[in-house]
Amino acid sequence: MLIDAEQLINYQRCRRRAYLDVYGDLDQRDSTNEYVLKLVQDSQANQRTLLSNQPAVQPAHPAKDWQAAAAATLDLMRQGVERIHQGVLITETENGMTLKSNPDLLVKHPGISDFGDWLYVPTEIKLGKRPKLEYQVAVAFHAMVLAEVQGSWMETAWLMLRDRGAYSVDLWEVLPRMQEILAECTQMLVQQQEPEVFIARSRCSLCHWLSSCHAIAKNDYHLSLLPGVTPTRYVQLQALNLLTVKALAETKPSNLEPLPGFGKEAAHKLVRQAFSVMHDRALLIEESLYPNGNNDANHYLELPIHESHDFLAELLPTAPIELYFDIEAEPTLNLIYLHGVVVVDRHANTQTFHALLAERPEDEALVWQQLLELFRLYPTAPIFHFCPFEVQTVERLAKLYGTPHSHIKPLLARFVDVHERITRLVTLPVESYALKQIARWLGFEWRDPSANGAQSICWYAQWLSTGDRAHLNAILTYNEDDCLATHHIKEWLVGFLMKAIAEQSAELA
Ligand code: SF4
Repeated sequence: MLIDAEQLINYQRCRRRAYLDVYGDLDQRDSTNEYVLKLVQDSQANQRTLLSNQPAVQPAHPAKDWQAAAAATLDLMRQGVERIHQGVLITETENGMTLKSNPDLLVKHPGISDFGDWLYVPTEIKLGKRPKLEYQVAVAFHAMVLAEVQGSWMETAWLMLRDRGAYSVDLWEVLPRMQEILAECTQMLVQQQEPEVFIARSRCSLCHWLSSCHAIAKNDYHLSLLPGVTPTRYVQLQALNLLTVKALAETKPSNLEPLPGFGKEAAHKLVRQAFSVMHDRALLIEESLYPNGNNDANHYLELPIHESHDFLAELLPTAPIELYFDIEAEPTLNLIYLHGVVVVDRHANTQTFHALLAERPEDEALVWQQLLELFRLYPTAPIFHFCPFEVQTVERLAKLYGTPHSHIKPLLARFVDVHERITRLVTLPVESYALKQIARWLGFEWRDPSANGAQSICWYAQWLSTGDRAHLNAILTYNEDDCLATHHIKEWLVGFLMKAIAEQSAELA
C-alpha cells in the first residue's frame, strides 16, 4: 500500500476522506469543481513564479510512472544537480507500506550523504499565507523519506509561502506529530476502518465526496447536519446516547449544560435547533418549547423580544426605499470586483439592480467611487446585507482609497446585517445559517442553482483570461439573486416578527 504527503494532509482534515480516496467507489465521487481546479492552477502559477528566479531540473520519466520518476530523481541527486523540481522519493516501511514523497523542490546543500559531500533539503511551495500544521506535517514527511533515500538527515526543511516567504519547519517539533499521524493513517487503511460521516461545512464544501457523504448523513438524520453540533460536542452527545435529532430535541438543556464545550447558552440553542428541525418550523427565540411548569422555559422568556413595533422598526427598518447590497471578492488578488445593489422602491413597486463591476482589476477604485455615488442618491435608505463582510469591506476600501471617516461613519450607521438579526431572533430548521440555506428554506430559488461565491471567482478569472462576457453575465445574475435573497429573508423576518407581536398582544389583551 502506498502513502503520500497529500494523504496525510487529507487525513488531518478528515479521516474519512483519506479512507474514501483509497477505498471509495469512484462512481460516487463528485466531479472536480471549478473552484478547486482554479486553486490548483493558481498554485501551479505561484510555483512557476517562484521557480522563474531559481531554475530547477525536472526528472524525465514517462507520464504517471512514479517508479520511473523516483529512479530519475535518484539519478539527478547522485549527479549533484543544484535544484530538482517535482522529484519523487520512495522508501519501504517495516510493515510493508511504500512511502512516496514528492517535494516541490529539492535543494543541494553542503553536508555528508550517501551521494558524497552534499545532501538535499526539501521545500514545499504553498499558496497559503500561514504555515498551517498540516503543511508542516507534509514537509516533515518529505524530510523523513528524503533522509532514508540519501542516508542523512538535514537540519531543517522549508515551506515557501505566498506572502510570508520562506518558513523554516522545526523538524524536532513536527516529526513526532507527523509519525503519530502516519501511524494512525496507516492503521486505518490497513484495517479498513471506515470513519463515520461528519459533515462540517468548512472542510466538506470543497471535498469531492460531499454529495455521497451528505446523502448518507441525510438518510441517517446525522447530528452533524444540525448547526451547533461540532466534533467535540458530538463526542459528548454520543456519551449520553443522544444520537438522533428527536432524542436531542426531547432532552432538557440542563443535561447538556455541564458538558465540556457546551455551557448554558449553547445547550439551549442546540436543543431548540433540534426541536426546530424535528418539527420543520421556525421558532422565535423566546418561544417556550416546554409544557407549563418546566423551568427551562424561563430561559426563552428572558430573551429580548419587545412587543413594540418601534423595537421592530429599529431592528429591521422598513422604508420607502431600501438598498440590498452584496459584494463579490477575489481573495487571492485581494480584489473587490463587484458591488451589487438592488434598490427596492416600495411606492413605485420596483426592484432595480445596479452592478458596479470592475471589468479590469485596476478599476476597483473606480467602482468604489461609483458605489459611494449610488449610496449618496438615497441618503436615508437603510442598506441591508448578509454577514459582516460588506461592513468590513467598506471600512477597508475607505481606508485604502482615502474616503474621509466623516463620510463613512453615517453610511455605516445605515447598514443592517440581516444574518445577525435572523440568528439573534429566530431558530430555523436549516443545516446552516448561510444565505442559501435560509433563503431556500423560505422558498427562494437562484436562477442558476449551482452558482456560489467560489464559482463567481472562477467566472471572473475566466472573464479576465477569455474576455467572454457570458462569464460576467453569470456573475451579475448570481449577485443580483444574492441581493434579492437577502430582501426575501428580511421581508419574511419582518412578517414573522409582526405576527409574533400580534399574537403576544392578543394574549395580553
Ligand atoms: S465530504 Fe466531508 S465527511 Fe465526507 S469525506 Fe469529504 S470532508 Fe470527509
